[in-house]
Formats: sequence, C-alpha cells, structure tokens
Amino acid sequence: MAEKNRRSPDPSTWQPQTRLIRGGTSRSAFDETSEALFLTSGYVYGSADEAADSFAGGPERFVYSRFGNPTVAMFEERLRLLEGAEACRATASGMAAVFAALMAQLHAGDRIVASRALFGSCHFIVSELLPRYGIAHQFVDPGDMEGWKTALAEPAAVVFVESPSNPMMELVDLEAVAALAHAAGARLVVDNVFATPLLQRPLELGADIVVYSATKHIDGQGRCLGGAILGRREFVEKELQPFLRHTGPAMSPFNAWVLLKGLETLPLRVAAQCRSADAIAAFLEGREEIARVCYPGLASHPQAALARRQMAGAGTLVTFDVAGGREAAFRFLDALTLVDISNNLGDAKSLACHPATTTHQRLGEAERGRMGIGEGTIRLSVGLEDQADLLADLAGALDAARG
Ligand SMILES: *Cc1c(COP(=O)(O)O)cnc(C)c1O
Repeated sequence: MAEKNRRSPDPSTWQPQTRLIRGGTSRSAFDETSEALFLTSGYVYGSADEAADSFAGGPERFVYSRFGNPTVAMFEERLRLLEGAEACRATASGMAAVFAALMAQLHAGDRIVASRALFGSCHFIVSELLPRYGIAHQFVDPGDMEGWKTALAEPAAVVFVESPSNPMMELVDLEAVAALAHAAGARLVVDNVFATPLLQRPLELGADIVVYSATKHIDGQGRCLGGAILGRREFVEKELQPFLRHTGPAMSPFNAWVLLKGLETLPLRVAAQCRSADAIAAFLEGREEIARVCYPGLASHPQAALARRQMAGAGTLVTFDVAGGREAAFRFLDALTLVDISNNLGDAKSLACHPATTTHQRLGEAERGRMGIGEGTIRLSVGLEDQADLLADLAGALDAARG
C-alpha cells in the first residue's frame, strides 16, 4: 500500500459543514472513500494473550459490538464534533438515549424536575417509570420562570427539558434554567431533537447533557431509528458507558452507517425545511380557518425574543389549531393529498398528525389541556418538497376543513 504522504487533518479547525462531511472518518486498510460499514458483532484476537490483555484493560480496541463498533464510532465522532461535546455515545433509538441518560445517573431517593411539555414517551419515563424506583418528579410549565425558581429552590439531581417542545413549540430559557439547575445541585439534560444540533447549542448555554433521536432530522429520510447522548467525558465514561455496555441499547452498525450519511446533508436539509416552515407559518397565520399558529419564528409567538436569543433558526415544525375542533382537524388531514398523515417528524417528506388522538392520546384530556393541546391541534413536520406545492396542498385542505 502506498505510503500516506498527507498531513493528518485537525477537525477542530473545521467549520461545522466540513465536520459533517469529514469528521470521524476512519479509513480501513482498503483506503475506501465512503465510510465502511462494519457489519460485525464480534472481533478476533491474534493470540490468547491479546484477548486476555483486552479484557484486563489493555490497549483500547473493539471487543464486541454491544461495547463499540468502528462504524458506530465514526457516527459518534462526527456528531461529537458538530455538537462540540467532549464525548458522544450512540444508542438504538432516541428513547434509549433519553432512558440511558437519565437512568445512568439517577438513584433511589433522587428528585428530577422536568418540563411538563415532553415527548409522550419521555413523559412516561418521568411520571410512571422513575417513581417505581423511588425517584420523585415535579413538572414545570416550560416558560414559567417563577415555577422553575420554586421547583429548583429544593435540591434535585436532574433537570430534564425539551425546547422547542412537542407539539406546542414552547421554549425553555436554557441559560436561565441551567443556572437554577446547577444551584440546586442538578445536571441539565436537554432533548434537542426539535431544534437539531444546528439551530440550538445547549452545551454552550450551560446544559450538561444533550440527547437526540437521530431517527428525526439526522437520518432525515425516514429510514432507521437511532439516538445519541453527548456530554462531558467524565460523565460518559464513568456513568453512562457502564450502563450502556451492560444493558445493551447499542446502535446497529447498519443504522450508524445510514446516519453518518444523513449527517453529511443535515445543514442543507434543515436550512431548506426552515425556509418552507417560515413561509407556511406566515401563510397559516393569515387564514381564517386557523385559530392559532405556534411557531417560534413568528412575532406572535409569546417567546419570540427568547427564540431569537437562543436559536439560530425557528425549526422545521409548525403547530396550529384548526377552528372547529376534532372534526375540522380530521377533515383537514383527510383532504391533504401531498402531506402524509404520520406521527414521525424531521423527514424529507412533509408529515402531519393530530397529537390529541395519536402521540399524546395516552396523557388524557386534563394533562393535554395543561399542555395546550386541543382537539383542533395539528402538528406539521415540514419536508423538502417544493414550497409552492406544499402551500397549495395546505390551502386545499383548509378549504375542506370548513366542511
Ligand atoms: C422522536 C423523539 C424522541 C424519541 O426518539 P425515537 O428515536 O423515536 O425513540 C424523543 N424526544 C423527542 C423530542 C422526539 O421527537
């Protein structure tokens, strides 16, 4: 094989777009251009001594894909470089990432303070699963600074938030809540799925741990599940890694390979989706069939100033209330001809859902009411179709919604 005469690159000097194309690439002996897919569960040793050494804490190497895999490691390194975190671990799904990030550090007797506006399964973990293990919880409305101050006047181990929230696009002031969390002895864990790593940088605002469902914008083409946890090396290596290794929510190497490719085009896709989401939010706000539009980029959003301060763009999701409740909302969804009815988000295909009867059905009417989710509420994930086609589809469906 030819001697490599190129200087080894220093990814820390690269702009984000370059990190997403080249970061983490680790070529095999075949010098392939594209990242290799190491579809292997195990690894072999040259001798019995070498095997014994690796288990006795010898030189770092791959021993089993539940512990680590070269393709998964490339994905972790690429995302780590984008986020600017000290360490990253990938998981099989976003929920595996959320669960591991919380369970790896919580103990019986601890207290978690969480935003009320959480993804449905995250809400289940905090309000139903953690209490079984003696972990107390308290919910705070995302934008209620007085509520955060009161809840964090008492010690807590973890503060867990999502911003913007699903589906009502409410924001948490990450910098202010991070300061309160730290004063209460807690670490701040941010589910950054809706903002994507490009539009919001929680670690720079004081968060300790960031989690992703890579299933959403990072794949961005509706193909596979994945998740990731990013934070300080000490947390990842001492607390998170033993939890992951021994409980097994490992990302499949195949999914890691798909997601690596997703990262290469993430900025292009998110920028285009944000542009269309902006246009759609403005269009909907001007329609009489729409009672309310929730989009952090609109001047009418109650936290528009906070959105400008902590986000580099308003995101790719628009939530709105169709006047006329569930019947009108269902007429609207059934009349869409381009946008699909689906509970997924962040996809190249535009997707719409009715949270009250799908993603947030389990919560019950009272809790939905507290979160602001109504019978006419629709959540739209804006895709990559031509903006004019999307606006025409929405206009047609709004005509149908009038009944
Ligand atoms: C989708 C999602 C999750 C869960 O991710 P999966 O990959 O579906 O397990 C968690 N949080 C938010 C905000 C999400 O949108």
